[in-house]
Amino acid sequence: MKHTDLLNIAHTFGSPTYVYDAQKITSQYERLTKAFQNVTNLKLHYAVKALSNLSILKLMKSLGAGLDTVSIQEVQLGLAAGFDPNEIMYTPNGVSLEEIEKAAQLGVKINIDNLSILEQFGSKHPTIPVCIRINPHVMAGGNHNISVGHIDSKFGISIHQIPHVLRIVELTDMHINGIHMHTGSDILDIDVFLYASEILFNTAKNFKELDFIDFGSGFKVPYKKDDIQTNVEELGEKLTTRFNEFCQEYGKELSLNFEPGKFLVSESGTFLAEVNVVKQTTSTVFAGIDSGFNHLIRPMLYNSYHHIENISNPEGRERYYSVVGYICETDTFGNNRRISEIREGDILKFNNAGAYCFSMASNYNSRYRPAEVLWYNEEAHLIRKRETFDDILKNQVEITISSPKKEETVLKEV
Ligand SMILES: *Cc1c(COP(=O)(O)O)cnc(C)c1O
Repeated sequence: MKHTDLLNIAHTFGSPTYVYDAQKITSQYERLTKAFQNVTNLKLHYAVKALSNLSILKLMKSLGAGLDTVSIQEVQLGLAAGFDPNEIMYTPNGVSLEEIEKAAQLGVKINIDNLSILEQFGSKHPTIPVCIRINPHVMAGGNHNISVGHIDSKFGISIHQIPHVLRIVELTDMHINGIHMHTGSDILDIDVFLYASEILFNTAKNFKELDFIDFGSGFKVPYKKDDIQTNVEELGEKLTTRFNEFCQEYGKELSLNFEPGKFLVSESGTFLAEVNVVKQTTSTVFAGIDSGFNHLIRPMLYNSYHHIENISNPEGRERYYSVVGYICETDTFGNNRRISEIREGDILKFNNAGAYCFSMASNYNSRYRPAEVLWYNEEAHLIRKRETFDDILKNQVEITISSPKKEETVLKEV
């Protein structure tokens, strides 16, 4: 997208605003499917939690994706966006049996990640097939907070507990239709990923009624120029070979599934915010914007990098800035960033704002959550209105509060 398009959007829809480029989402989808073109049955389930706007879900549907969901509300969103229930995978962690039963009632694919629920669900609903989420105990991701496949992780059923899984399956006569892993974000070492995949293949051999193997996600995307990223083409080549070999051995053409979130939407997203104040202190120059970690929490939450540009003055002389938000706590988007000269009123552009940005936004400091715009067919479409004061008040229930009685105070003093 051109800077002028973004400036027009900021002008038309106000600030701060999230903008998503449909073309980038499409090209990422195509890049991943191309990397696995030699797999007969490839299925990409878009991880809704990354960015859950209905129009984004519809775009995913138009591309041929299914959905990966982690809450019953995400399941409902998927259905509202027009997905067929069997296109939706439900992969919760730590939810109640009731919620899983509700998802099963809605007809979506169920993925279970602990023995307690597996045993209960299998006993009550032996005819409903389920997938099991395995923890291969491989540390594939970079950041500990977003790496979920290691030994201390709360996710998945340990590979050391497969004998117990098999006993539950036999005793309840339930059906296992898939094996799943999701080792976390930022996979850089393809060999580590392939190693975890071998563990998955070994586990899969124990189950005779599989339809699919789901390798989760965690593809790393670039955050700056020349940044490292998952080489999905190399992964595609290597995993395809191993997967096709496995299907031969297994005696059935299984489906190979992935659940990309960040890979599909991170780079499509841009966050636009206006500079309220430029403040020179004794040690630095702050650019304070009309937003904060209530709208984009990733830098404060896990120190993520979002490249920042001044699109109002792209040719200006570059200076060092700390870009900060208006929240009354430490609220930093980036320190010591070289940005073309910032003037009050300029619009700053934050990159990689598609995944886990709007979906993590809150009303902290009683601020409105931003508007969302989809750039689709060379046109800007508003896909979520900015909130208003009514949204802040909406669910609050006012009760009558009266001042403490004056007499009592007087009596105490006497
Ligand atoms: C969050 C999540 C994903 C998506 O991860 P990305 O790193 O955004 O691709 C996939 N599967 C499950 C089970 C998840 O919880």
